Amino acid sequence: MSYRPRIAPWPKEFADKLPVVEIFYSIQGEGRHAGTPAVFIRLKYCNLGCSWCDTRFTWDENNLDAGYLLTSKETAEQARAAIPGSVTLIDRVHVVITGGEPMLHQDRLPHLIAELKRLGFSFVEIETNGMFAPTEQMSEIVDWWNCSPKLSNNLLQTEIQFVPHALEALVATGKADFKFVLQAPFEIEELIDTYLPLLPADRIMIMPEGQTCARQLNAMSEIADVCLEYGFRLCPRLHTLIWDNARGR
Ligand code: SF4
Repeated sequence: MSYRPRIAPWPKEFADKLPVVEIFYSIQGEGRHAGTPAVFIRLKYCNLGCSWCDTRFTWDENNLDAGYLLTSKETAEQARAAIPGSVTLIDRVHVVITGGEPMLHQDRLPHLIAELKRLGFSFVEIETNGMFAPTEQMSEIVDWWNCSPKLSNNLLQTEIQFVPHALEALVATGKADFKFVLQAPFEIEELIDTYLPLLPADRIMIMPEGQTCARQLNAMSEIADVCLEYGFRLCPRLHTLIWDNARGR
C-alpha cells in the first residue's frame, strides 16, 4: 500500500485563501487542449498519493513545498502577471488549475474563476482525479475538466479511488475527458472492467506513465498499440517530451 496524505479540514480563518504552490506560463501538455499556451495555477494537497506522482511536492509531507497562501484576487493577478507582454490577446491563453488535487478547494474556486475572467481570461480548465463531484456552480463556470481517474498501478486499492457518483457528475457536465495513465498494456483490462461502463468511450484518453522524455518515448509505442486495438485516443505528455521533467514547465 502506498503512502496516503492526510487531509485536514480547511481552516476557517483562511476562508478566502488558496494554498498556491506555483504559478507559471507554459503550454498545456496533456489532453484535448494540448499545445495551447496556458497559465498553470498549482494548488497544494491531494487526497490520494499515487506511487508514480510527479508532483509529490504538493502533498508529500516529506517533500512538501512551502507555497503561499493567496486570496483569489492575488492568485488571479499573479496568473495575469505570468504572461509575457508580447502576448496581446489574453483570451487565447488558457488557465489550468491543477495540483495536487484542486477540487479539495472547490468551495473557493468559483471566486478565483470570477477573478480570472474579470482580468480577461476566457477559458479555465481543471485537472482532477475524478473523486469529487463538481457543484452546480462549478459545472457551469468551468470550461473544461481534464479528469484523470486512477488505476491500481498507483498502488492504491480501487475501492479507495473509484467514486462513481463523482465521475457521473463530471460526465454530465458534457465538458470532460477522462485520461488514464497506463504502465503496461494489460492494464487496459482494469480500465474496461471498472470504468468503461460509466464513461463515454470517445472521452477516454490513454497516457503512458513516465516522468522523463526517454521513458515517455519508450512507452508510447506500446500504449499506441493498445489505443489502436481498443479505439481509444492516445494522450502524449508534450511538456515532458519537450522539457523532460523540469519543474515549472
Ligand atoms: Fe499526484 Fe494526481 Fe495522484 Fe494526487 S491524484 S497523488 S496529484 S498523480
